[in-house]
Amino acid sequence: MGPLKPVVFSDFDGTITQEETFVGILRKFAPEKSRELIPRMYDLTLSLKEGVRILLESVESRHYPEMLEIMKNAPIRDGFNEILDYLDSRKTPLIIVTGGLEDFARIALRPMLGKIHSIFGLRVNTDGPRLSVISEWASDTELVSKPLILETVGKSVSANPPVLIGDSVTDLEAALSCPVVFARDRLARYLQERGKPFLPFENFFDVRQSFSEMFPVES
Ligand SMILES: [Mg+2]
Repeated sequence: MGPLKPVVFSDFDGTITQEETFVGILRKFAPEKSRELIPRMYDLTLSLKEGVRILLESVESRHYPEMLEIMKNAPIRDGFNEILDYLDSRKTPLIIVTGGLEDFARIALRPMLGKIHSIFGLRVNTDGPRLSVISEWASDTELVSKPLILETVGKSVSANPPVLIGDSVTDLEAALSCPVVFARDRLARYLQERGKPFLPFENFFDVRQSFSEMFPVES
């Protein structure tokens, strides 16, 4: 067997961004429905598939430019630019899988897009009075099925093994079947409750450190 060629899949909101940017935007532009539905998605009594669609499709399309403007200034977690350089130098692809909108990730990360392999998530159509969701990666339970993306895209990019970085409920299904998981915040608690091992992190310097120890580059 040759050297391991990992592929890194990272969540976006609350993982690459310092805060839960997507949830923040939903709360701002769909306040009533957010109050009702977001707690139910967190306690896992409402599926992400239903919840995220209802929330996004209750937002008026005229707000979309304003949403993008907010994302332009989303604070990025420490060490992200540095880990991109590190992964780039060892030819390890970083793929973003977001349970939110691809556009939000693209605009927030526009200076670094050249170092990101690809971005998968939701798209929206803004032609009607309200946003309408376009999801190419839905499963029975999720609008964006991260396990499906990990399997499909992971195979096309490299043989193995996938590494997942995440912070919350949208990462849970994928994390449970992923051999190496970096987790913080809610995801860390969900995994602890389920007895699934993970590496804790607070910033991307932590991730780079553990990653370089787990997957040393052959010299
Ligand atoms: Mg997240």
